[in-house]
Amino acid sequence: MTLVKPVGGRHYPRSTGEFGAWFATDADCLDYLEWLRWPEGFVCPRCGHRVGWRMADRRFRCGACDGRASVTAGTIFDKTRTPLTVWFMACWLFATQKDGVSAQSVQRALEIGSYQTAWAMLHRLRSVLVRPGRERLTGTVEVDETFIGGEEPGLRGGRAKGKKSLVGIAVEVKEPRGLGRCRMAILADGSTASLHPFVAAHVEPGATVLTDAWQGYSGIDKLGYSRLRHSQRAARLRGDDPFALLPNVHRVASLAKRWLLGTHQGSVQPAHLQSYLDEFVFRFNRRTSRSRGLVFLRVLELAVAHDPVRYRDLILNPEPKKNPPAGGAGWGHPPSLERPRAPRPWRAADLDHAG
Ligand SMILES: [Zn+2]
Repeated sequence: MTLVKPVGGRHYPRSTGEFGAWFATDADCLDYLEWLRWPEGFVCPRCGHRVGWRMADRRFRCGACDGRASVTAGTIFDKTRTPLTVWFMACWLFATQKDGVSAQSVQRALEIGSYQTAWAMLHRLRSVLVRPGRERLTGTVEVDETFIGGEEPGLRGGRAKGKKSLVGIAVEVKEPRGLGRCRMAILADGSTASLHPFVAAHVEPGATVLTDAWQGYSGIDKLGYSRLRHSQRAARLRGDDPFALLPNVHRVASLAKRWLLGTHQGSVQPAHLQSYLDEFVFRFNRRTSRSRGLVFLRVLELAVAHDPVRYRDLILNPEPKKNPPAGGAGWGHPPSLERPRAPRPWRAADLDHAG
């Protein structure tokens, strides 16, 4: 569920200080997750029954099927050995740092023992960012493809170079200027068989699709779009810069590449690229959000609505690196040092849900 019109200081923390005061213990975090997942009270995940009893270990017992369920069952927090307070801090950093955080920064800031644990936490957070049934792009939408990857500065000696991936990009163009939302997905190739499904998945029929003259987009009008074709050859003949034809997708592409090289130091393996693109899109589409704390709330809302992503599933192929990439972003001291030890002024269970 999505909370309508959340209020800072009431539904989500407005500052790191407030965050620390709200989520000092795992019980505080459970309260908050319960409030997000079951705003009108417990719902049995097995049978859907709405009456249950809270047991001593904070799980619920269903009044109909007698099943036991915790609020984290079926979410990314299920069966994790990491304390919820650490999960929440990772989520807070993930949401409040404008450009996100690397696994190395999270490991250092939260004093997590292994790089792999920090990496897997961030990867689980990324795995929930695409809301099932999210709306497609509308209006005027620029579509193009670009190659991403191929350079992995983090890899040392004798290891294989990363492969380039072809990525489809679609971005809403606003009048008179400015960008709306974007979408990015890895494509098998630049053929019609790859490009048409990409457009159909991410752009609402009725939209005007701006592309270059590439034949892979031919026939897109039969899927319900108006296609406006910008030909590089025609631009050259007119004396215009052919690279300025689709300025908006190119801007998004360069922002995404810069972000991968900056926050993640280019250490993204092709097998995991899509989830990093999902994170980039999530951030890009919330770039004007009035509060980073609100982004934290939105990530947790998505997290309690998802099936768990198990570490095993993440590392099917290939394995995450044992060690952090070379180089390293200076990231200051852990926020835990700044956390006030004030008494809790707030309980999630006290809150009403808006909307
Ligand atoms: Zn039940």
